[in-house]
Amino acid sequence: MRRTLEWQIATVRSIRPETARVKSFTLVLPEWMQHRSGQHHDVRLTAADGYQAERSYSIASEPERQGEVDLTIERIDDGEVSSYMHDVLVEGDRIEVRGPIGGYFVWEAAMAEPLLLIGGGSGVVPLMSMVRHRAAARSRNPARMLYSSRAFEEIIYQQELEQLDSAGDGFEVAHTLTRSQPAGWKGYARRIDREMLSDVSRPLGKSVQVFICGPTAMVESAAESLVQIGLKPNQIRTERFGPTGG
Ligand SMILES: Cc1cc2nc3c(=O)[nH]c(=O)nc-3n(C[C@H](O)[C@H](O)[C@H](O)COP(=O)(O)OP(=O)(O)OC[C@H]3O[C@@H](n4cnc5c(N)ncnc54)[C@H](O)[C@@H]3O)c2cc1C
Repeated sequence: MRRTLEWQIATVRSIRPETARVKSFTLVLPEWMQHRSGQHHDVRLTAADGYQAERSYSIASEPERQGEVDLTIERIDDGEVSSYMHDVLVEGDRIEVRGPIGGYFVWEAAMAEPLLLIGGGSGVVPLMSMVRHRAAARSRNPARMLYSSRAFEEIIYQQELEQLDSAGDGFEVAHTLTRSQPAGWKGYARRIDREMLSDVSRPLGKSVQVFICGPTAMVESAAESLVQIGLKPNQIRTERFGPTGG
Protein backbone atom coordinates (compact mmCIF):
# COMPACT_ATOMS: atom_id res chain seq x y z
CA MET A 1 0.00 0.00 0.00
CA ARG A 2 1.23 3.51 -0.83
CA ARG A 3 2.43 5.62 2.08
CA THR A 4 1.04 9.15 2.30
CA LEU A 5 4.51 10.67 2.74
CA GLU A 6 5.73 9.43 -0.65
CA TRP A 7 5.81 12.08 -3.38
CA GLN A 8 3.79 11.49 -6.55
CA ILE A 9 3.31 13.45 -9.75
CA ALA A 10 -0.19 14.91 -10.09
CA THR A 11 -1.59 16.37 -13.31
CA VAL A 12 -3.42 19.69 -13.21
CA ARG A 13 -6.81 18.91 -14.76
CA SER A 14 -8.35 22.36 -14.31
CA ILE A 15 -7.73 25.79 -12.82
CA ARG A 16 -10.66 28.01 -11.83
CA PRO A 17 -10.72 31.52 -10.36
CA GLU A 18 -12.68 31.77 -7.09
CA THR A 19 -11.96 35.46 -6.36
CA ALA A 20 -9.43 37.98 -7.71
CA ARG A 21 -6.69 36.49 -5.49
CA VAL A 22 -7.80 32.89 -5.11
CA LYS A 23 -7.85 29.97 -7.53
CA SER A 24 -8.91 26.34 -7.24
CA PHE A 25 -6.77 23.63 -8.83
CA THR A 26 -8.09 20.15 -9.61
CA LEU A 27 -5.24 17.65 -9.41
CA VAL A 28 -5.50 14.13 -10.79
CA LEU A 29 -3.51 11.75 -8.58
CA PRO A 30 -2.15 8.49 -10.02
CA GLU A 31 -1.92 7.13 -6.45
CA TRP A 32 -5.18 8.57 -5.12
CA MET A 33 -6.03 7.68 -1.53
CA GLN A 34 -9.23 8.73 0.21
CA HIS A 35 -8.66 11.66 2.56
CA ARG A 36 -10.51 12.78 5.68
CA SER A 37 -11.99 16.29 5.51
CA GLY A 38 -9.54 18.74 7.08
CA GLN A 39 -6.39 16.98 5.83
CA HIS A 40 -3.89 18.61 3.49
CA HIS A 41 -1.40 17.82 0.75
CA ASP A 42 2.14 19.11 0.53
CA VAL A 43 3.18 20.65 -2.79
CA ARG A 44 6.87 20.65 -3.77
CA LEU A 45 8.43 22.78 -6.48
CA THR A 46 11.93 22.12 -7.80
CA ALA A 47 13.89 24.76 -9.77
CA ALA A 48 16.32 23.92 -12.58
CA ASP A 49 19.25 24.39 -10.16
CA GLY A 50 17.76 21.87 -7.71
CA TYR A 51 16.37 24.44 -5.22
CA GLN A 52 13.16 23.14 -3.65
CA ALA A 53 10.22 24.86 -1.93
CA GLU A 54 7.49 22.95 -0.14
CA ARG A 55 4.13 24.22 1.26
CA SER A 56 0.98 22.65 2.70
CA TYR A 57 -2.45 23.12 1.08
CA SER A 58 -5.71 21.88 2.57
CA ILE A 59 -7.91 19.64 0.47
CA ALA A 60 -11.06 21.54 -0.51
CA SER A 61 -12.96 18.68 -2.11
CA GLU A 62 -15.03 16.02 -0.38
CA PRO A 63 -13.53 12.55 0.25
CA GLU A 64 -16.31 10.97 -1.80
CA ARG A 65 -14.69 12.28 -5.04
CA GLN A 66 -12.36 9.62 -6.38
CA GLY A 67 -9.05 9.94 -8.19
CA GLU A 68 -8.60 13.69 -7.78
CA VAL A 69 -8.57 16.50 -5.24
CA ASP A 70 -9.18 20.25 -5.32
CA LEU A 71 -6.74 22.64 -3.69
CA THR A 72 -7.78 26.30 -3.27
CA ILE A 73 -4.85 28.69 -3.04
CA GLU A 74 -4.66 32.39 -2.22
CA ARG A 75 -1.96 34.34 -4.06
CA ILE A 76 0.39 35.90 -1.51
CA ASP A 77 2.39 38.82 -2.99
CA ASP A 78 6.03 37.70 -3.24
CA GLY A 79 4.97 34.25 -2.05
CA GLU A 80 7.29 31.66 -3.50
CA VAL A 81 4.85 28.80 -3.99
CA SER A 82 1.43 30.49 -4.17
CA SER A 83 2.57 32.95 -6.86
CA TYR A 84 4.04 30.10 -8.93
CA MET A 85 0.73 28.22 -8.66
CA HIS A 86 -1.17 31.34 -9.78
CA ASP A 87 1.14 32.86 -12.37
CA VAL A 88 3.03 29.96 -13.94
CA LEU A 89 1.07 26.72 -13.59
CA VAL A 90 -1.33 25.88 -16.45
CA GLU A 91 -3.80 23.09 -17.10
CA GLY A 92 -2.02 19.90 -18.17
CA ASP A 93 1.12 20.68 -16.12
CA ARG A 94 2.48 18.10 -13.72
CA ILE A 95 3.33 18.88 -10.11
CA GLU A 96 4.79 16.99 -7.15
CA VAL A 97 2.47 16.36 -4.18
CA ARG A 98 2.21 14.08 -1.18
CA GLY A 99 -0.65 13.33 1.18
CA PRO A 100 -3.26 13.20 2.53
CA ILE A 101 -1.59 14.40 5.74
CA GLY A 102 -2.98 15.22 9.22
CA GLY A 103 -5.02 13.34 11.77
CA TYR A 104 -6.17 15.92 14.31
CA PHE A 105 -7.99 18.64 12.35
CA VAL A 106 -10.41 16.20 10.71
CA TRP A 107 -14.17 15.74 10.69
CA GLU A 108 -16.19 12.79 9.50
CA ALA A 109 -19.94 12.75 8.91
CA ALA A 110 -20.21 9.82 11.34
CA MET A 111 -19.33 12.21 14.19
CA ALA A 112 -22.71 12.91 15.76
CA GLU A 113 -22.16 16.18 17.64
CA PRO A 114 -23.33 19.54 16.21
CA LEU A 115 -20.62 21.22 14.19
CA LEU A 116 -19.34 24.80 14.29
CA LEU A 117 -16.86 25.89 11.59
CA ILE A 118 -15.03 29.18 11.94
CA GLY A 119 -12.93 30.39 9.02
CA GLY A 120 -10.95 33.47 8.08
CA GLY A 121 -9.96 34.12 4.45
CA SER A 122 -8.49 31.02 2.79
CA GLY A 123 -8.92 29.25 6.14
CA VAL A 124 -12.34 28.31 4.80
CA VAL A 125 -10.72 25.66 2.53
CA PRO A 126 -10.58 22.64 4.91
CA LEU A 127 -13.96 23.70 6.34
CA MET A 128 -15.39 23.58 2.80
CA SER A 129 -14.22 19.99 2.48
CA MET A 130 -16.16 19.23 5.68
CA VAL A 131 -19.30 20.97 4.41
CA ARG A 132 -19.07 19.21 1.03
CA HIS A 133 -18.52 15.89 2.81
CA ARG A 134 -21.53 16.57 5.06
CA ALA A 135 -23.70 17.19 1.97
CA ALA A 136 -22.34 14.16 0.06
CA ALA A 137 -22.95 11.91 3.08
CA ARG A 138 -26.49 13.36 3.42
CA SER A 139 -25.85 14.22 7.05
CA ARG A 140 -28.52 16.30 8.76
CA ASN A 141 -26.31 17.03 11.73
CA PRO A 142 -26.80 20.67 12.80
CA ALA A 143 -23.87 22.64 11.39
CA ARG A 144 -22.99 26.30 11.20
CA MET A 145 -20.18 28.22 9.58
CA LEU A 146 -18.97 31.66 10.63
CA TYR A 147 -16.80 33.00 7.84
CA SER A 148 -14.76 36.21 8.00
CA SER A 149 -13.64 37.93 4.79
CA ARG A 150 -12.36 41.41 4.10
CA ALA A 151 -14.98 42.29 1.48
CA PHE A 152 -17.94 40.65 -0.26
CA GLU A 153 -15.95 40.02 -3.46
CA GLU A 154 -13.30 38.18 -1.41
CA ILE A 155 -15.71 35.54 -0.11
CA ILE A 156 -14.47 32.21 -1.45
CA TYR A 157 -17.17 29.69 -2.52
CA GLN A 158 -19.84 32.38 -1.92
CA GLN A 159 -22.49 30.91 -4.24
CA GLU A 160 -21.94 27.31 -3.21
CA LEU A 161 -22.21 28.27 0.47
CA GLU A 162 -25.50 30.08 -0.21
CA GLN A 163 -26.86 27.03 -2.02
CA LEU A 164 -25.86 24.73 0.82
CA ASP A 165 -27.38 27.14 3.34
CA SER A 166 -30.71 27.15 1.49
CA ALA A 167 -30.84 23.35 1.09
CA GLY A 168 -32.76 23.10 4.39
CA ASP A 169 -30.69 20.20 5.74
CA GLY A 170 -29.47 21.90 8.92
CA PHE A 171 -26.47 23.82 7.56
CA GLU A 172 -26.31 27.61 7.99
CA VAL A 173 -23.63 30.11 7.06
CA ALA A 174 -23.05 33.54 8.66
CA HIS A 175 -20.61 36.00 7.10
CA THR A 176 -18.69 38.88 8.57
CA LEU A 177 -17.00 41.46 6.32
CA THR A 178 -14.22 43.28 8.12
CA ARG A 179 -13.15 46.03 5.69
CA SER A 180 -16.03 46.92 3.40
CA GLN A 181 -19.64 45.93 3.05
CA PRO A 182 -21.95 46.28 0.03
CA ALA A 183 -25.04 48.50 0.32
CA GLY A 184 -27.80 46.78 2.26
CA TRP A 185 -25.43 44.20 3.83
CA LYS A 186 -27.26 42.27 6.55
CA GLY A 187 -24.38 40.17 7.89
CA TYR A 188 -21.80 41.08 10.52
CA ALA A 189 -19.35 43.91 9.78
CA ARG A 190 -16.46 43.53 12.24
CA ARG A 191 -13.75 41.09 13.23
CA ILE A 192 -14.90 37.87 14.89
CA ASP A 193 -15.50 38.57 18.58
CA ARG A 194 -16.98 36.95 21.65
CA GLU A 195 -20.51 38.25 21.08
CA MET A 196 -20.57 36.96 17.49
CA LEU A 197 -19.25 33.56 18.58
CA SER A 198 -21.87 33.42 21.29
CA ASP A 199 -24.64 34.19 18.74
CA VAL A 200 -23.59 31.46 16.33
CA SER A 201 -22.63 28.75 18.83
CA ARG A 202 -25.57 29.04 21.27
CA PRO A 203 -28.19 27.29 19.07
CA LEU A 204 -25.81 24.33 18.63
CA GLY A 205 -25.83 23.46 22.34
CA LYS A 206 -23.13 22.40 24.76
CA SER A 207 -21.77 19.37 22.92
CA VAL A 208 -20.74 21.33 19.81
CA GLN A 209 -17.49 20.38 18.07
CA VAL A 210 -15.58 23.39 16.74
CA PHE A 211 -13.03 23.69 13.92
CA ILE A 212 -11.23 27.02 13.49
CA CYS A 213 -8.91 27.78 10.58
CA GLY A 214 -7.28 30.93 9.25
CA PRO A 215 -4.54 33.45 10.01
CA THR A 216 -2.78 32.72 13.30
CA ALA A 217 -4.08 35.75 15.24
CA MET A 218 -7.70 35.12 14.24
CA VAL A 219 -7.53 31.45 15.18
CA GLU A 220 -6.05 32.16 18.59
CA SER A 221 -8.48 34.92 19.48
CA ALA A 222 -11.53 32.89 18.37
CA ALA A 223 -10.41 29.83 20.36
CA GLU A 224 -9.80 31.96 23.46
CA SER A 225 -13.21 33.63 23.17
CA LEU A 226 -14.97 30.28 22.85
CA VAL A 227 -13.35 29.07 26.06
CA GLN A 228 -14.41 32.33 27.75
CA ILE A 229 -18.04 31.69 26.76
CA GLY A 230 -17.91 28.22 28.31
CA LEU A 231 -16.65 25.69 25.76
CA LYS A 232 -14.00 23.20 26.83
CA PRO A 233 -10.64 23.30 25.03
CA ASN A 234 -11.10 19.68 23.94
CA GLN A 235 -14.18 20.71 21.92
CA ILE A 236 -12.06 23.07 19.80
CA ARG A 237 -9.63 22.08 17.02
CA THR A 238 -7.50 24.69 15.31
CA GLU A 239 -5.37 24.99 12.16
CA ARG A 240 -3.12 28.02 11.54
CA PHE A 241 -2.39 28.97 7.94
CA GLY A 242 0.17 31.71 8.32
CA PRO A 243 1.36 34.92 9.86
CA THR A 244 -1.10 37.49 8.60
CA GLY A 245 -3.63 36.74 5.91
CA GLY A 246 -6.22 38.97 7.57
C1 LIG B 1 -1.75 22.83 7.24
C2 LIG B 1 -1.76 24.04 6.33
C3 LIG B 1 -2.72 24.12 5.32
C4 LIG B 1 -2.74 25.24 4.48
N1 LIG B 1 -3.72 25.31 3.52
C5 LIG B 1 -3.77 26.40 2.71
C6 LIG B 1 -4.83 26.50 1.73
O1 LIG B 1 -5.72 25.63 1.62
N2 LIG B 1 -4.82 27.60 0.93
C7 LIG B 1 -3.87 28.59 1.03
O2 LIG B 1 -3.94 29.56 0.26
N3 LIG B 1 -2.89 28.51 1.96
C8 LIG B 1 -2.82 27.43 2.79
N4 LIG B 1 -1.79 27.35 3.71
C9 LIG B 1 -0.70 28.35 3.68
C10 LIG B 1 0.38 27.87 2.70
O3 LIG B 1 1.00 26.68 3.18
C11 LIG B 1 1.52 28.88 2.48
O4 LIG B 1 2.01 29.29 3.72
C12 LIG B 1 1.07 30.10 1.68
O5 LIG B 1 0.56 29.71 0.40
C13 LIG B 1 2.27 31.06 1.47
O6 LIG B 1 3.29 30.38 0.81
P1 LIG B 1 4.20 31.15 -0.29
O7 LIG B 1 5.32 30.22 -0.65
O8 LIG B 1 3.35 31.66 -1.38
O9 LIG B 1 4.74 32.39 0.54
P2 LIG B 1 6.17 32.51 1.28
O10 LIG B 1 7.24 32.64 0.24
O11 LIG B 1 6.27 31.38 2.28
O12 LIG B 1 5.97 33.84 2.09
C14 LIG B 1 6.02 35.14 1.45
C15 LIG B 1 5.58 36.20 2.42
O13 LIG B 1 4.19 36.02 2.78
C16 LIG B 1 4.04 35.81 4.18
N5 LIG B 1 3.06 34.71 4.33
C17 LIG B 1 3.31 33.39 4.35
N6 LIG B 1 2.16 32.69 4.48
C18 LIG B 1 1.17 33.59 4.54
C19 LIG B 1 -0.23 33.50 4.68
N7 LIG B 1 -0.87 32.32 4.80
N8 LIG B 1 -0.93 34.66 4.69
C20 LIG B 1 -0.32 35.83 4.56
N9 LIG B 1 1.01 36.01 4.44
C21 LIG B 1 1.73 34.89 4.43
C22 LIG B 1 5.40 35.41 4.69
O14 LIG B 1 5.59 35.81 6.03
C23 LIG B 1 6.32 36.15 3.76
O15 LIG B 1 6.49 37.49 4.18
C24 LIG B 1 -1.77 26.27 4.61
C25 LIG B 1 -0.81 26.17 5.62
C26 LIG B 1 -0.81 25.10 6.47
C27 LIG B 1 0.24 25.02 7.56
